[in-house]
Amino acid sequence: MNFKAELVACFGQPVAENPTGVMQEAAFAAAGLPWRYLTIEVAPGGLVDAVRGARAMGFRGFNCTIPHKVAVLPLLDELSKEARIIGAVNTVRRQGDRFIGENTDGKGFLRGLTHDAGMDPRGKRVVLLGAGGAARAIATELLLAGVAELIVVNRSVERAAPMVEDLKPHGPIRFVPWRVQYTVEPETDLLVNATSLGLYPNVDWMPDVDLTRARCLVADAVFNPPVTKFLAAAQARGLKTLDGLTMLVYQGVIGFTMWTGVAPDEAVMKRTLREAMVES
Ligand code: NDP
Repeated sequence: MNFKAELVACFGQPVAENPTGVMQEAAFAAAGLPWRYLTIEVAPGGLVDAVRGARAMGFRGFNCTIPHKVAVLPLLDELSKEARIIGAVNTVRRQGDRFIGENTDGKGFLRGLTHDAGMDPRGKRVVLLGAGGAARAIATELLLAGVAELIVVNRSVERAAPMVEDLKPHGPIRFVPWRVQYTVEPETDLLVNATSLGLYPNVDWMPDVDLTRARCLVADAVFNPPVTKFLAAAQARGLKTLDGLTMLVYQGVIGFTMWTGVAPDEAVMKRTLREAMVES
């Protein structure tokens, strides 16, 4: 009998606000793997010790959430190309004795885009609302996937300007300051909300955009609630939508595969996460 369990963890925000643990545990069980996913609240000052502890205890990897996604960089042995460009890590995998930093947020978005919404980003015109961590990850993957144009619309210049400068070497990206309502043109193929507008408990907030002429796919990174006011407004106009829960499931699917080397049962992960969100 083998009583050893492999461990992965999430270091970050309060445990009660993080639904990914139940999803990963359900996937381990469905795959018959003796693995556990521990969701652990780690204060900013505790990250160095948490990563040292993960090494000492032989963790197979971990996720990082706010506020650790950038602070974890110098604690790792290596970064993937995407994590280097984004400048943030949400997933760490162990290879031998080395911890490798990855960023699966944008990859999760891209997988939802191609698999669930059936859109190949190559040659597409994209408007991305926001310039925070989620926006950086999504922008990086969209540029690497070959979009024709990426317009970043953001309230603060301070956050958007450096992001656009950093990402310029990777593709056609430009910044439009968000001072008045942003009008989405019919030529836009994809509109993404990567701001936190609409996130629980501020569920009545939504990005100030005019969708009157829009004919695009509308995606939201906000996953709580799964159908944001923004997505509901797009649906009311007959536009196709892609929700943030799909992105969250797929970043977890990609992380699971990186840690275990096998593909999870995606249907189990989707169902568990949706149920967890309804219950919370
Ligand atoms: P950040 O705090 O890094 O960035 C927040 C962004 O929202 C900034 O661009 C900020 O603009 C903008 N913003 C906030 N309030 C307003 C406002 N009132 N008006 C206009 N713009 C505003 O957050 P993250 O990038 O980490 O997260 C953004 C969202 O994405 C969150 O809801 C998060 O839950 C979600 N997310 C979802 C994931 C998934 O898998 N589905 C993964 C990661 C994140 P400014 O620069 O002007 O302040």
